[in-house]
Amino acid sequence: MQGATAAAGAAANTSQGLDVAKLRADFPILLRTINGHPLVYFDSAASSQKPTHVIQTLTDYYERHHANVHRGMHTLAAEATDMYEAVRRKAARFIGGVDPSTVIFTRNATEAINLVAYSWGEQNISAGDEILISVMEHHANIVPWVRLCEKTGATLKTIPLDENYGLDLSDIDTLINKNTKLVALTRMSNALGTINNLAPIFKKAHAVGAVTLVDAAQSAPHMPTDVQELDCDFLALSGHKALGPTGAGILYGKAELLDNMPPFLGGGEMIELVTFEKVTYNHVPHKFEAGTPAIADVVGFGAALDYLMELGMENIREHEKEITAYALDKLSQFEWLKIYGPADVDKRGAAVSFTVEGAHPHDIAQYLDSYGFAVRAGHHCAQPLMKALGVTATTRASFYIYNTLSEVDSMCEALAEARDFFKV
Ligand code: PLP
Repeated sequence: MQGATAAAGAAANTSQGLDVAKLRADFPILLRTINGHPLVYFDSAASSQKPTHVIQTLTDYYERHHANVHRGMHTLAAEATDMYEAVRRKAARFIGGVDPSTVIFTRNATEAINLVAYSWGEQNISAGDEILISVMEHHANIVPWVRLCEKTGATLKTIPLDENYGLDLSDIDTLINKNTKLVALTRMSNALGTINNLAPIFKKAHAVGAVTLVDAAQSAPHMPTDVQELDCDFLALSGHKALGPTGAGILYGKAELLDNMPPFLGGGEMIELVTFEKVTYNHVPHKFEAGTPAIADVVGFGAALDYLMELGMENIREHEKEITAYALDKLSQFEWLKIYGPADVDKRGAAVSFTVEGAHPHDIAQYLDSYGFAVRAGHHCAQPLMKALGVTATTRASFYIYNTLSEVDSMCEALAEARDFFKV
């Protein structure tokens, strides 16, 4: 395959708002070759790559500032605490300008959702209650609720898919009823790319007194997030999908909910007074941050947030709409390739799932890897969704700020070649 090397190397500036050619230079990993070809990284929905700014912030933190946070009386402890707490304020701005004390650092979106399931869930859910999610959820927004239902005798209900890979809301007034206590939905599907319009659903949820949670793991790195506009009670996201290091994510929660919730984990930092008989707890957010947090990763996440906010989330969204529209147009010209996800880029993000007739999704991913393309294949931690689609797996190419139209061209060339290779 000729095209991949030349085309992938030439990073076209694909959109007005982002200088893609320039920003690619910020990502050292993009200089790598894989199997003799320039890396084309189309797996950002799983985890994004990191700009030098984030990598250097981590190094600088460890070289010059590291100490444990909150407890220390010395200069380094104060510096580390200031750096860590500054990220809380940044994250609060990033999700729409909330009170920083409503932002809790977690390891990732999975831990954030589990925190709600264990803490809020065990206090507020009992037999006869209903929890509503959707068929397109990632396992991170399924498994904690299945477990909570098993423990409490509550029932898990699901919103099905419509024919355009969106949420089928035809039965929403039955699905949301007086028994509904929680509505937990993804804003952007990792496997379909679908962007869900959550506000009207949450309005109905609030009307019956239910609490709402947004899984923003896929949406937050790729489009503006405003928890007030979403009108959600909780929101979970992972820093590593948004240019940050692994190990730092956030849970946002409305203050009155967080104040009334019991702690998730017990230990240092989260307490006020400890005796062998009784423990009183620290105030929010520290009540939910037991033990030494991932200080360096949080500080690195702050650098990622700076980078994203500097680019502008609207600009990022526009760039991704452009590259996704281009990819959908090219891929839909292959009659042997089926795309799973909305055709309208206004209703979707940049994760594009597909299958190739006659070839297993894993084989396609391996074939692409032999030319340097990193794509994902499998059930994408969405087994119920795969079942609803009638497949066991798909191949997924997911785009981010550093991807170019010419990289999409090269992948399409490689896919055409793969199709010939696997055709029986
Ligand atoms: N929710 C969605 C929609 C995701 O795509 C993912 C990860 O792919 C998660 C939750 C879980 O993210 P993490 O593994 O970072 O906790």
